[in-house]
Amino acid sequence: MEKKIAVIRGDGIGPEIVAEAIKVLDAVCRRFGHTFTYDEVDMGGCAYDKWGDPLPPAMLEKCLASDSVLFGAIGGPKWNDLPGDKRPEKDLLRLRAGMGVYSNNRPAKIWPQLASASPLRPDTVARGIDFIIVRELIGGIYFGEHRTETVDGQAVATDVLVYSEKEIERIGRIGFETARKRRGKLTSVEKSNVLDSSRLWRSVMHRLAAEYPDVELSDMLVDNCAMQIVKDPSQFDVIVTENMFGDILSDEASMITGSIGMIPSSSLGDTSCGLYEPIHGSAPDIAGMDIANPIGTILAAAMMLRFSFDMPAEADAVENAVSAALTDGWRCADIMPESGAENCRKIGCREMGDRIAAYVEKGV
Ligand code: NAD
Repeated sequence: MEKKIAVIRGDGIGPEIVAEAIKVLDAVCRRFGHTFTYDEVDMGGCAYDKWGDPLPPAMLEKCLASDSVLFGAIGGPKWNDLPGDKRPEKDLLRLRAGMGVYSNNRPAKIWPQLASASPLRPDTVARGIDFIIVRELIGGIYFGEHRTETVDGQAVATDVLVYSEKEIERIGRIGFETARKRRGKLTSVEKSNVLDSSRLWRSVMHRLAAEYPDVELSDMLVDNCAMQIVKDPSQFDVIVTENMFGDILSDEASMITGSIGMIPSSSLGDTSCGLYEPIHGSAPDIAGMDIANPIGTILAAAMMLRFSFDMPAEADAVENAVSAALTDGWRCADIMPESGAENCRKIGCREMGDRIAAYVEKGV
């Protein structure tokens, strides 16, 4: 098969981790006989420096013309003082909205080889952590009206949270469909004891439940969910929630699995062209040092193979290669145990990419 992948390397560690994911995708091509071509897209602080715009319209067009988008990370201290609408991170919202990707899918899964890296108690980890957060991505408070005004001599800031029935229904369906393909348990998370938007959310989810009798739906308030994720994460299979709640809960969920450097995410809309990225940022503190963990980005590439290119065997090959690298003791600095590490060897970003690519080609 031939596929065109738009590649956004971005800022900080972005170029380093994306280079390793491409190395692994090239290994997939060699093993399975595919041809992937890469269309370079300037976005982020580097694009601002070059074009005066963190996401020039022509660059968004390149993404829309691709079969899928592989994204590293953007932003950094150099661009922190730019006005809000020129901040690179703001353009991630523009990219998501431009691509119409309304469903963000973040797995929270513990790799058995990294169980000791979880900050949770071993008996809690032993019950298993394997759930997915399906987060609505282009609605809610991040996309509502924002304004700051002066009222009676003091600054007053307003951010508006809006959800329509249609927006809730389309993400709700993704939640039910995802649960149907897994263990059939869906937890709908909201704050219906306080918010009207959450009461609408709950009623739409209950209406949809009638169409998915094979899925067990339960409701949970977001504050309780934040507690339950650390108390007993084994209870979750699929969580579906709105934009801001999902943003916060998915960072919490990433932490209990060990390192932020390990977690991929996919964002999809109504077409097969998706946006695939690690969940972390541009990590300016470690940029250019060859110590960033590329596995989150490599696993994001595996999700691209699975969800956008319908290549499950190829996606399995990449995930198995990551597992083999961990089993053989190869660790980047962020997942290197502090003690008792006789079987573990610390390697850099490039070597991790080389090793995973080699496992893919060898077939493990
Ligand atoms: P961050 O995720 O970049 O870093 C948080 C911590 O995790 C840092 O100590 C970093 O070194 C570490 N870390 C992150 N990724 C790692 C990896 N792959 N391997 C090893 N360690 C890793 O978050 P931050 O420091 O809050 O943000 C830095 C910049 O990134 C900011 O400008 C922020 O706005 C931006 N950001 C971008 C995105 C994105 O592009 N999607 C997401 C979040 C933050």
